[in-house]
Amino acid sequence: MAFDPRLVPEVLWRCPVCGEEESLHVVKKRTGILSSKPAIACRQCNARWEDISGESMTLVEGDEGHQGRRSMAEWSATVYAEKLILNAEKDVDTAVLLRDGEGVIKKVSAAVFPVGRLGGTRSTGRRYLVYTPNFKIPRSSPLPKMQPVDHGELVLTNQRIVFDGNRRVLNMELSHLLSAEVRNHFLELGYGDRKYAFHLGKESPFKWKTYIEAAFQAVQEQRRKPRTPRRTRKKATEEKTTEKNAD
Ligand SMILES: [Zn+2]
Repeated sequence: MAFDPRLVPEVLWRCPVCGEEESLHVVKKRTGILSSKPAIACRQCNARWEDISGESMTLVEGDEGHQGRRSMAEWSATVYAEKLILNAEKDVDTAVLLRDGEGVIKKVSAAVFPVGRLGGTRSTGRRYLVYTPNFKIPRSSPLPKMQPVDHGELVLTNQRIVFDGNRRVLNMELSHLLSAEVRNHFLELGYGDRKYAFHLGKESPFKWKTYIEAAFQAVQEQRRKPRTPRRTRKKATEEKTTEKNAD
């Protein structure tokens, strides 16, 4: 099965050389009058990779320290090593009503698909990667033939994930999110007793998964901080009991 070079910008959603998001894209390298080979280039720093395969690719232009052939696992390690900065912004153009202390981290136009039928076997001719975290054995799988249930905007805030669709609004609190996975090019979110599959326009589902996980972690850390000092409350009760006993 031929490797689809379009998978590279999807998995490497941040340039391994300059760190810019969504900046890699597929370009063509001329190999003859009528022939060409795919290459990967960065819009931000003009880094350029050639000899693209599922296993490795070669940096031929860009930061000299990075040049040469490396495995996809190594290139992707540089992408995921850098810690994310979560900026929750209030002043964002969105239809989602923000609460007190809530700000938007990311938003993207998205479509929701029926998750029960994901991973079907009928091919549409386009092939996508079944994600393997280390990128060692890229397998592709057909994009299932199906229609989206709804179109709208997917918004990640520092409190929740909201899908503001034409037909319905899905409100998912980060504190109750069960799972975030990438399957067959889709971002799959587990919430309540359901899974929702989102197709994210032109943005990488791997980037979204990474941001969602970071926002989820931040919420968990926030929750671990006790709001009212429990020990004081317990002490107060004990003191009361002691007083009663003393009576
Ligand atoms: Zn770059």
